[in-house]
Amino acid sequence: MSRVPFTVVQEICAAEGLHALGVIAPVPLTLPSEGLDQMLADGVGDLAWLGESRIPRLRPTALQMTAEAMVTVALPYQPEANCGELKRARYAAGKDYHNILRSKLGRIGLALAKRYDQPWKSRAAVDSAPVNERTLARLSGLGWIGRNALLIAPDAGTWRLLGFLLTDAPLDPHHAGHGEDRCGTCTSCERRCPTAALVDRRVMTTRCISYLTIEHRGVIPRDLAEKFEGWWFGCDLCQEVCPWNRFASPAGDARLTGSEDDDTLMRIDATTFDLHFAARAMRRAGYERFRRNLLVAWFSLGRVDRCAPLLAEGLPLVLAQARELGLTPVEGGG
Ligand code: SF4
Ligand code: SF4
Repeated sequence: MSRVPFTVVQEICAAEGLHALGVIAPVPLTLPSEGLDQMLADGVGDLAWLGESRIPRLRPTALQMTAEAMVTVALPYQPEANCGELKRARYAAGKDYHNILRSKLGRIGLALAKRYDQPWKSRAAVDSAPVNERTLARLSGLGWIGRNALLIAPDAGTWRLLGFLLTDAPLDPHHAGHGEDRCGTCTSCERRCPTAALVDRRVMTTRCISYLTIEHRGVIPRDLAEKFEGWWFGCDLCQEVCPWNRFASPAGDARLTGSEDDDTLMRIDATTFDLHFAARAMRRAGYERFRRNLLVAWFSLGRVDRCAPLLAEGLPLVLAQARELGLTPVEGGG
């Protein structure tokens, strides 16, 4: 059959609230390996699975050998922080984006097959399958990779989530029009990063607050912890200073919006954690790491007076973190 025009893909994606998109066709058999290999060589801490999935990450067709095309999409999330002194990444302000965006992409795959009455299979990936996401987004014209190692579009900035749909549908390719590096002489993100995690356009994973608060399982080294500036889940500092975020859009889905206040966070205990963070990204890190992160965040703000209830609970990881920070129950106010 003839190829599916981009206008059809555009119309189906628009019905799901997705307006920034590209189509890669055919799907490349291999992707450049340098970025991933350099990241692995720099060290990925508790993300050892990144190395284990190296080969499929570099072979986009491995997820669906019959795929004729890949749709790439970018969905804006809430560009406001809406936090108190304790800070969390904006992408985690609302419900877990993985489920939201994957469902949208799944429906797009079904709609394509239905429109042409074909048994086309599709597979959605939203940080959920070994896919080299930023490389594919850049190849499809959704933006360039900035010095903060994030995808940037000149008309939308960085506050966007990426999603991918491999499909058997023979889609016309479409380049979204961006890709030229427009960082120029700007180095704001590198200079703003409190832990000096941005080096030569890449993130030193094990120094990054985002990694340390979300993925790292153990105690956070004191020399890094004291630079956290109140972040307890993720970190947006290298995006907050990016001038292209002047052009950020409002969240593309109301479920991605939300707010946090410090007292509510401190009141969450082991019995209410799952319910409070139901269907939110924080739940996956678990309660003990959540409390470790609050301890580090308050400590980094010089607010050891807020640490007492965290220490009093006696969680092993929190107590080990307190020892690393040189906090005793007495100093913590308990
Ligand atoms: S997320 Fe924060 S710690 Fe990580 S590179 Fe950006 S500014 Fe640095
Ligand atoms: S802050 Fe400047 S250097 Fe960093 S990603 Fe944005 S434009 Fe590029």
